Amino acid sequence: MEILQSTEEMIARSRAWKAEGRRIGLVPTMGYLHRGHRSLMALLRPQVDVLVTSLYVNPLQFGPKEDFSRYPRDPEGDARACEAEGVDLLFMPMTFFPANFRTQVAVSGITSRWEGALRPGHFEGVATVVARFFGVTQADVAIFGEKDYQQLAVLRAMVRDLAMKVEIVPGPLVRDDDGLALSSRNVYLTTEQRKRALTLHQALFAMQAAKEKSVEERLALGRRMIDCDQLDYLAVVDADSLEPVEQLQGPARVLVVGRYGATRLLDNVELQ
Ligand code: AMP
Repeated sequence: MEILQSTEEMIARSRAWKAEGRRIGLVPTMGYLHRGHRSLMALLRPQVDVLVTSLYVNPLQFGPKEDFSRYPRDPEGDARACEAEGVDLLFMPMTFFPANFRTQVAVSGITSRWEGALRPGHFEGVATVVARFFGVTQADVAIFGEKDYQQLAVLRAMVRDLAMKVEIVPGPLVRDDDGLALSSRNVYLTTEQRKRALTLHQALFAMQAAKEKSVEERLALGRRMIDCDQLDYLAVVDADSLEPVEQLQGPARVLVVGRYGATRLLDNVELQ
């Protein structure tokens, strides 16, 4: 596996691959890789000629009071994980944005609720960095986890609206052995917080199983079960538009964010 830290070299490499007609796959990450990230690499590996994983803690998507400076980092462990998953090139840019970068990609509508409402500027940061990653790597296909369900919807909208020629593949949410959704941020949790955090997925699964109950009753059930310091939201939404639904008519999703101290944990499950 090759490791590149220069964005210029990455651009030159991907152009050369393209000229050779190779199919390029991209797994964008912020590092501190776990089995969730690795599952994305494993899913994409058989679909492409060259598999690129990017590792970049994107400052644009963090708010001023968020955890950018203390986001967990383990570049050596990450390189080992990528190698084990058959990644061809690990791209860890030292400098990713050119000087005087002045472009912002903003997806409207689908960003107005949930994470978009609580983290102003977050999805603009995500869409902007991902758009540049698509340009830099010339990816034919890129994979994103359903763990960040709204992010996946936002990026699909961006690709469709701008007719980007990259294909977006979703990767199923991967859980730890105790059921907690895997996240790089789980390392922030104390033992006591982590124990209470298990009520998040337990509530989602109970809501999923309560097939005879209305949406309102399922939400009440979920709220009773969740033990967190602050419930940012618990919502039943249309699986495509992410608008809240009052009755189940088509594919839907339950989205939840609970806070444990300063740590926000996201989870979701499908309904129906
Ligand atoms: P991050 O490093 O948190 O930016 O995540 C990089 C990619 O991994 C995103 O597409 C996430 O949705 C995905 N991801 C993170 N955690 C999980 C998980 N538990 N299961 C599946 N995908 C995940």
